[in-house]
Amino acid sequence: MSNVGAPLTATASVEQRADAIQAVLHARGMEPAAFIEQANHLVEEQWLPRNGARVVAKAWSDPAFRQRLMANGKSAVAELGLDMPRHHRHLVVLPNTPTVHNVICCTLCSCTAFTIIGLPPDWYKDLEYRARVVRESRTVLREMGLDLPPETEIRVWDTTADTRYMVLPEQPPHTIGWPEDQLAALVTQDAMIGVARL
Ligand code: FE
Repeated sequence: MSNVGAPLTATASVEQRADAIQAVLHARGMEPAAFIEQANHLVEEQWLPRNGARVVAKAWSDPAFRQRLMANGKSAVAELGLDMPRHHRHLVVLPNTPTVHNVICCTLCSCTAFTIIGLPPDWYKDLEYRARVVRESRTVLREMGLDLPPETEIRVWDTTADTRYMVLPEQPPHTIGWPEDQLAALVTQDAMIGVARL
């Protein structure tokens, strides 16, 4: 685009612009430093994959809970004291079966049900993963260490701002009857994204 004829305007440096935003926030009684500290606390202490692991263990152990989880994920995880932000309007739980394997992505950016399965790993946000898992999911999963038999159907789910997903892995047969906390310890974030099986 040509700027010929446009008036010259001075642009403030990044530091000056950041200072200006901070000054406005302070003037309105908003405390960015406190907000960042609180957000870090949530990320490091509360928004962890162990939340989703508890959900999975409960679904494996309690058929009635599993049914509620399938019907309305968001209200079922609330039974375990797990919150989701208001804009995460739906939590859709995708059960793996011996013949169907589910995997999630966000082709636009990096959305996950982060309060339940944790913040996305770096590779999840990578353009390579986001584009290729849709076009060649079997190959991408194999490259990530999950070699599925050709007869297994792979379903790829693209997260949106208001619909979040979580994969419900199959319970390893030798763990039937284990207590929930022991089951939860088996469940990984990769398994809830669908790039690994247990
Ligand atoms: Fe996103």
